[in-house]
Amino acid sequence: MASVGNSIGQAAIWLQKGYPVAIPTETVYGLAANACDLDALIRVFEAKKRPLFDPLIVHLPSVTTIARYAKDIPPLAFALWERYSPGPLTLVLRKSTLLPDLVSSGLPTAGFRIPAHPMALDLLNSVDFPLAAPSANLFGRVSPTTATHVVDQLGDAIPYVLDGGPCIVGLESTILDLSGPEPILLREGGIPSQHIEDDLKITLQRPHHAYRVHEETAPSAGTLDNHYATTVPLICYRNNEELELLLRKESLWEAGQRTLPNARFPSNEPTLGMLRFQSDIPNKFLEVWDETKFGIRRIVEILSPTGDMKEAARNLFAAMRALERVSPLILAEMAPDHGLGTAINDRLQRASFKGDQP
Ligand code: AMP
Ligand code: MG
Repeated sequence: MASVGNSIGQAAIWLQKGYPVAIPTETVYGLAANACDLDALIRVFEAKKRPLFDPLIVHLPSVTTIARYAKDIPPLAFALWERYSPGPLTLVLRKSTLLPDLVSSGLPTAGFRIPAHPMALDLLNSVDFPLAAPSANLFGRVSPTTATHVVDQLGDAIPYVLDGGPCIVGLESTILDLSGPEPILLREGGIPSQHIEDDLKITLQRPHHAYRVHEETAPSAGTLDNHYATTVPLICYRNNEELELLLRKESLWEAGQRTLPNARFPSNEPTLGMLRFQSDIPNKFLEVWDETKFGIRRIVEILSPTGDMKEAARNLFAAMRALERVSPLILAEMAPDHGLGTAINDRLQRASFKGDQP
């Protein structure tokens, strides 16, 4: 079982020995390993059950150190680092021969990031190699934003979790591909792409395929359709009209009860998990619920009572985890579709149930 502590020295020792260690970053917890050690990288893929086609992000403490492991770095990269680093921004650049192909799943490019969490930076400064660090969760599942989340899924597979408290951003990094002639947005994340465009007066390409890469072709599996999935079906809706349609579906209630695996729930009561952006469901639905949905418990997680997008992002994954533990079905309200809301909605849509709707 992993031990949990706050010793940078302890974490560094495990990393030097070639073992993966979970580390706090401002985005989500990462499962870090020496990016130049093939055995260590294999251990990361194994611990996460992550397919080898899904490239890892390489973490370094400074622009100077990145310059050793990347090549042909365009001027835009320096402008972006100047503005946003350290922080939740990953730049895909051509990689130097110092990085093994396994890190990038055979691609000639790699994703580079300078994390802002002080413990992550301390650790990076105390080892003399880059850290490859995907999110510290089982492949495809919800990302961890606390040390406890990491232990829940990977406790048996890794020796040490460096505990740096809850993640401040709570969403993965924004990924830009700068390896070609035009900058491409590969993943929405902690820095809204719209802000980047406005700040630097640039236009990012948003190719449809960057969001819908399928397993056979994946250069960018963080963008796979079924990423961030909860262990129970999650259905997204945009507004009250869509919520009403969902709540009117008798089949939804039946599904909620049918899929209830007794063992995982404290009581055998049918329960529906509601992930809400700012407030509980409107009164008119509350009344309908109480009158007609007799006996069905409602468990509500509100992402930000004040409607603050940063707070909502920070709470998203913990709320998804909390609901998947207590409810066989989650209905999730999408955030307003701007700023960080775009990244929140991206995660919710990828987490959502892709089969026939119940
Ligand atoms: P995560 O699992 O959050 O660490 O995200 C890693 C993701 O970064 C991968 O799934 C890819 O989407 C993206 N990524 C990393 N390296 C590259 C690369 N060389 N080219 C394109 N996308 C990359
Ligand atoms: Mg991940």
